[in-house]
Amino acid sequence: MAGPETIKTVKTTCPYCGVGCGVLAQVKEDGSVAISGDPEHPSNFGRLCSKGSALGETLSLDDRLFFPEIEGAQASWDEALDLVADRFTQAVREYGPDSVAFYVSGQILTEDYYVANKLMKGFIGSANIDTNSRLCMASSVAGHRRSFGSDTVPGTYEDLESCELLVLVGSNLAWCHPVLFQRVEAAKAANPQMRVVVIDPRETATCAIADLHLALKPDSDVALFNGLLAFLSEAGALDQAYIKAHTNGFEDAVASAGACEINRIAEATGLARRDLATFYTMVARTEKTVTVYSQGVNQSTTGTDKVNAIINTHLATGRIGRAGMGPFSVTGQPNAMGGREVGGLANMLASHMAIENPKHRAIVQDFWQSPVIAEKPGLKAVDLFRAARSGKIKALWIMATNPVDSLPDADGVADALKACPFVVVSDVTRAADTVGYANVLLPAAAWGEKDGTVTNSERRISRQRSLLDLPGETRPDWWQLSEVACRMGFKEAFDYSGPDAIFREHAALSGYENRGSRDFDISALAGLALSEFDGLEPVQWPQPSGMGSGEETRFFANGNFYTPDRKAAFVATKVKEPRETGRRFPFVLNTGRIRDQWHTMTRTGKTPRLAAHIAEPYVEIHPVDAKQSGIDAADLVEVKSPYGAVTVRAQVTEKVQKGTVFVPMHWTDQVASQARVDAVVAPETDPFSGQPGSKFTPVAIRKKQYS
Ligand code: SF4
Repeated sequence: MAGPETIKTVKTTCPYCGVGCGVLAQVKEDGSVAISGDPEHPSNFGRLCSKGSALGETLSLDDRLFFPEIEGAQASWDEALDLVADRFTQAVREYGPDSVAFYVSGQILTEDYYVANKLMKGFIGSANIDTNSRLCMASSVAGHRRSFGSDTVPGTYEDLESCELLVLVGSNLAWCHPVLFQRVEAAKAANPQMRVVVIDPRETATCAIADLHLALKPDSDVALFNGLLAFLSEAGALDQAYIKAHTNGFEDAVASAGACEINRIAEATGLARRDLATFYTMVARTEKTVTVYSQGVNQSTTGTDKVNAIINTHLATGRIGRAGMGPFSVTGQPNAMGGREVGGLANMLASHMAIENPKHRAIVQDFWQSPVIAEKPGLKAVDLFRAARSGKIKALWIMATNPVDSLPDADGVADALKACPFVVVSDVTRAADTVGYANVLLPAAAWGEKDGTVTNSERRISRQRSLLDLPGETRPDWWQLSEVACRMGFKEAFDYSGPDAIFREHAALSGYENRGSRDFDISALAGLALSEFDGLEPVQWPQPSGMGSGEETRFFANGNFYTPDRKAAFVATKVKEPRETGRRFPFVLNTGRIRDQWHTMTRTGKTPRLAAHIAEPYVEIHPVDAKQSGIDAADLVEVKSPYGAVTVRAQVTEKVQKGTVFVPMHWTDQVASQARVDAVVAPETDPFSGQPGSKFTPVAIRKKQYS
C-alpha cells in the first residue's frame, strides 16, 4: 500500500553535531516528516547517522512550550517582552552594563547569535555574552589565536580523506561525528597506504579503524606532542625553510619541549616506548599528516597548551595550508563555528575581530552606529554563573541551552539561578531542567520551524529552512532578541524584517569598506552573492570580494597568517605536574557522548529507536578497580566528587584504564534519578580559554547498598 503523499520536500541541515549534514525533509499529507540525507550536500553526500535519520521522530509537540509565561502564569508576548526589556534596562541603569548577561548556545542559528552579540556588546555595552560552545571548543579558539593571530580553522573534510596519516586526538569520531567517521572509513578502505592513529585514554568505537591506539594517561597530551616536536627536531624531519620564512618562536618551543628522552615521555604519558617510537616515526615519515582533535583536547585545564603543542608539530614540518595535511579542530555543536564568526563569545568581537583591539572596536561600532561598544572581555561561562551566584548578575537571559544539567558543578549553577533576581529562559520544551528557574519563559521555535544559517566544522555555511508552521505562539530567537532591543530603545538598529536581513548585515560587516583601518582582512563573506538568501547553497567561507561566489579558498596556502608580521607563532608549551587525585577521591572521572543521544536528551530522548542503543546511564570501571571496590557488572554505583554524586549502572570493562572511570553526559534527573553527571564534574577551567576540564575530576566510587 502506498504511504501518505509528500506535500513538499525541504533542503535543510541536521541540528546535531558539527559535521553539518544536509537533510532532505519530506513533509507528508498526514503531518509526518520523512528524513533522508541530501545527496548533493558536500558534508555528507547523502549519508546520515542514527541521530540524523531519526529527526522525523523528534518533531512531536509533546512537552512543547506554546505561550510566554511570567512566574509560571501564561502571559502575552507584549507583557513578557516589556518586562524583560524593563528589567534589563533597570539593572543596567542601577548597577551598570556588566550586571546583565546572556548565556546562549551552539544550537542557535548564526542570525540569532548575531543579534544577541550586537545587543549585548554594542547597545548594552557589556561583553557578558557567553555560550555553551565554551564547553566545546574554546581551547581551540584560544590556541588558534595564539598560533595564527586569529581563530581560523585551516582544515577541510577532504583533507581527512586525502591524507596518508590521520591522527585522532581526544576524538571519538565514530560516535561524536559519525558521518565524518564514515567518510574516513571509506577513504581508508580505498587507500591501503592510509594509516590511522587514535590517541585516547579510552578504547572507543573509533579504535575499530586504528592501526595504532595510544591509550595515554589522562591530560598527558602536552608531554606526548612536546616529545613529538623534539623527535622531529632530532630526526632532522623539520621544514627549516618554512620555519624561517613563515614562523616565529621555534627555538623557544623546542627548548621548552626538551630532549626526546623516550623513557621520560613514556613515564609521563604511560605509553610503551615501542608505541611512542612507532608513532613518532610514522609522523616524521609522512608528509600528508592531518591531526584532528576534539573534546579530549579542548575540555582540559591545559586545553589551550594541548592545542598549541599539536599545532607546533605542523608548523615545524610546514604541514599546513596544503591539501591532505594540517591541524584540524572538529566542533561538537551544529553552529559553534557560526557563533565564532559573529563573535558570540565573551572574549570576541563580531566578524573575527578582537575586543581588546581599539581599531577593531571602532570598526564595529561605526558599522553598527551603536551608542557604546564593550571595551573588555566579558565573563566566560563558568565565571558567569559564579558571578550570578554571588549576586553580581541582576538579570540573565538563557537561550537554547540547559546549564542546570550541562555545566560543571551543575548544582552550583542551580544555586546561581536561584540567587539571580531575574532569569529569562527561551527554550522549546519543559524537558530542560533550567526552565524551572525562569521568572520569564519564552517559547522558542524548534528545528524544522526556524530559518537561518549554521556553519559546520570545515567552515561550510548551510541553510536551516523551516518546513513546519510555528506552533502556538512560539517565535524564533532572533525575533525575541530584536523585540526586546526595540523595547529598550534601540528600534532603528534592530528593526529586522527576517533572518535574511540579519545575514546580509553580518556579511556586510565582514567586508565593511572601513576595513582599510583593520590590521588584517579575512573578508569572510564579502564576495558572496546574496540575492537569494533562501536558495543559498552550502558554501565555505572565506568568500572575499573579487572571488567567484562558491569558489573555495585554502587558509594559509601562501604561508601568511593573521599576526602583525604575518608569521605564525610557535607557543612554548610546558608539561605541567600531573594532577593529583588524592585518598578520598582516588579515581579520575572522564565524561563524554554516546552514539545515539544528543546533549541533555531534550530531543533525542523522544525516540525509542535511539534509546534502544543504550537505555540507561552507566559508569565504565576497569575490572581491577571493580574487584577492589567490590563492584560487579550491573551493580548500581555511586560516583561522587566534592560537588555532587550520581548513581549509575556498572559496566566492568578494560576499555578504561585502571584508576579512571567514564560516565556519559546526557542523562538528566527528569529522565533517570540522580543521573546528572555534570553535578559531579569540577568547575575548573583552562586559564587561557576558560573551558572547563570535564575530562578530569577526582571522584570516589562505591557500590550502592539498598536495604
Ligand atoms: Fe547529524 Fe552529525 Fe549525524 Fe550528520 S553526523 S546526521 S550532522 S548528527
